[in-house]
Amino acid sequence: AVPVTVISAIGAASRFGMIIKSGAAFEELGTVRAVAIDKTGTLTLNRPEVVEVITTPGTTREHALTLAAALEARSTHPLAAAILAAAPTASRTDDVEELPGRGLQGTVDGTPVRVGTTRWIDAGDLEPHAATLEEQGMTVVAVEVGDAPVALIGIRDELRPEAAQAVRQLTDDGVRVMMLTGDNERTAHALARAAGITDVRAAQLPQDKEHAVRESAQRVPTVMIGDGVNDAPALAAANVGIAMGAGGSAAAIESADVAFTGSDLRLVPQGLAHARRGRRIMT
Ligand code: ADP
Ligand code: MG
Repeated sequence: AVPVTVISAIGAASRFGMIIKSGAAFEELGTVRAVAIDKTGTLTLNRPEVVEVITTPGTTREHALTLAAALEARSTHPLAAAILAAAPTASRTDDVEELPGRGLQGTVDGTPVRVGTTRWIDAGDLEPHAATLEEQGMTVVAVEVGDAPVALIGIRDELRPEAAQAVRQLTDDGVRVMMLTGDNERTAHALARAAGITDVRAAQLPQDKEHAVRESAQRVPTVMIGDGVNDAPALAAANVGIAMGAGGSAAAIESADVAFTGSDLRLVPQGLAHARRGRRIMT
């Protein structure tokens, strides 16, 4: 049976937006010494905007965005919303496949099209431009038609204003912070620097995130915080998985032990401190 003190602590947590699925999860939360955190949509504001489109000579900005939007219309990824908002129109397509951590592939007007990371899609002659955009903290989405790259879409999603404060509080409380992201090295490091995070794992596929969390959990009790479908395996592998924000995916909420109804990252140190106090009262 769950002790009455735990039930009342879980009730108190729900009043500041922390929903805990079980007494066991609450008790484990109080022992946590490491936090693995997703970047896109968790550390960032989740308001990605297209700020740059670089095309090959034969392609227009409008055409590149229209093609990308045809595929992105089928995705719930935050980057998809940014591309759809910037595109003048979207062609129709019906055979789109989404590869978590990579991007999308499908057929538009009879031609295969891929939209996704510059690790998955070879940017060819556009590669130097990709590096420049990434060093400025942008996520770069490459667009490929047939087997030729035609454009790079530079998308900016700002760091949440309270991110550095939340990271500092966790560090002061003796909790190690590690960033896990599917985004590339250069973009990841630009954002991590601003957030005060030094342990950064970039270009992580869902199973890489899962592996990193498993490894950390072997050493110390570890929390994973994420919002996306790509975070679900890592959330399940953590001692405690936390789904963050109202905009989180159903898969993330399903895989998590704890859900925050808000997106303010200061809830994380606050929630951990609450769980530690709960443990002290019990023992
Ligand atoms: P994160 O771990 O930062 O939340 P994801 O694993 O969801 O990121 O995605 C990693 C990378 O895969 C993105 O930075 C993007 O380049 C690419 N990607 C994923 N989904 C899409 C999509 N729907 N459209 C374009 N690119 C995508
Ligand atoms: Mg995410």
